[in-house]
Amino acid sequence: MSRVDEVVVGGGIAGLVLARRLAMAGRKVALLEASDRLGGQLLRIEVAGITVDAGAESFATRGGVVAQLATEIGLGADLVSPLDAPAWLYRDDGSAIALPATSLLGIPGVPLAADVIAAIGTRAAMRAELDVAMPPTVGAKAATLGELVRRRMGSAVLRGLVDPVVRGVHSTSADQLPLERAHPGLRTALLREGSLSHGVLSLRAGAAAGSQVGGIRGGMARLADELIADLELFGVDVRLGARIAFDELTRQRAGDVEGRVVLAAAPPTAGEHRVTIVLLAVDQPALDAAPRGTGMLVATDAPGCARGRSPTSPPSGRGWANRLRGATFCASRTTGTASRTWPMSRAATPRHCSA
Ligand SMILES: Cc1cc2nc3c(=O)[nH]c(=O)nc-3n(C[C@H](O)[C@H](O)[C@H](O)COP(=O)(O)OP(=O)(O)OC[C@H]3O[C@@H](n4cnc5c(N)ncnc54)[C@H](O)[C@@H]3O)c2cc1C
Repeated sequence: MSRVDEVVVGGGIAGLVLARRLAMAGRKVALLEASDRLGGQLLRIEVAGITVDAGAESFATRGGVVAQLATEIGLGADLVSPLDAPAWLYRDDGSAIALPATSLLGIPGVPLAADVIAAIGTRAAMRAELDVAMPPTVGAKAATLGELVRRRMGSAVLRGLVDPVVRGVHSTSADQLPLERAHPGLRTALLREGSLSHGVLSLRAGAAAGSQVGGIRGGMARLADELIADLELFGVDVRLGARIAFDELTRQRAGDVEGRVVLAAAPPTAGEHRVTIVLLAVDQPALDAAPRGTGMLVATDAPGCARGRSPTSPPSGRGWANRLRGATFCASRTTGTASRTWPMSRAATPRHCSA
């Protein structure tokens, strides 16, 4: 049995940040990680000789926390913004459209805007516009994002715009996504502004200028690299292959290490499932002339896509990867019924194909 001040369980980004902060504050720290590598869902993989992220590949700029961390660990000069262009949507009917410019999570801020009408048709856009005529209390108690959008703007907006975005970002359907997790300020904005579309406009206006997401040149896995280097510098006792049994944990002991225990790993839950990540490199320089904004979100029933699959987030438009000329990347996650955002991928063994 060894003794330290703090025992951090889990070596994903949360555990790495925590262990580093505690060690910098002068604490004696041990970091226990079940697998044979640190980084958790931050993971890089090589496809066609090019290194790309197979896990998280961008970060939300809201709050500025990730940019601040990146700057603190020496990656400030490598922060990049995506192309200034909307994401695209590949729809059930096989057509592709740009997502409406003035929207939040696919919810239109101006339901009768030309790009909304082009996306869902005049009739559905007019139904969505009824939102402004309803009392703000309609849908205000909705438990999920899906329920809120359906009640205020109708199912065409939900199916055609919101659900594909939610599936791409959260790996679950809008009907399964709790409203507060989708956006913590949306309910308040609805009640304050009197309608959902006006709430969307006010949230967009209140957001900091610039892109909603950011990236790191060379990939998000660099965050883990720099943190791991710091752990070595600050003398953190890192133990790989140290799976801790949650039912044997105490506040003062994890495995054979004594000290104040801090959890940075979630106990397994019944709703967990495997995530399959498919990365494809397409060597087609002609595609460089027609980038599809920050990515292509694919509707669940889009032709050519297996049911239940939610391809999403090609990093080709996300800052650094789009500068690799002649290579376009597609990433997809297969999903089932996710119990929470970003279902755990710890069991996933990366395999890759390239073309
Ligand atoms: C394909 C994919 C794409 C994503 N894209 C994005 C994105 O673009 N932007 C974004 O913000 N987020 C994204 N995410 C989510 C993001 O990667 C995760 O939210 C984040 O990395 C989680 O970090 P964490 O440290 O909390 O957990 P994890 O990274 O899951 O780390 C937990 C660690 O604890 C270890 N562990 C588990 N159980 C035990 C145990 N009993 N004992 C010891 N160790 C244990 C695990 O092995 C793991 O290393 C994505 C996730 C996936 C899977």
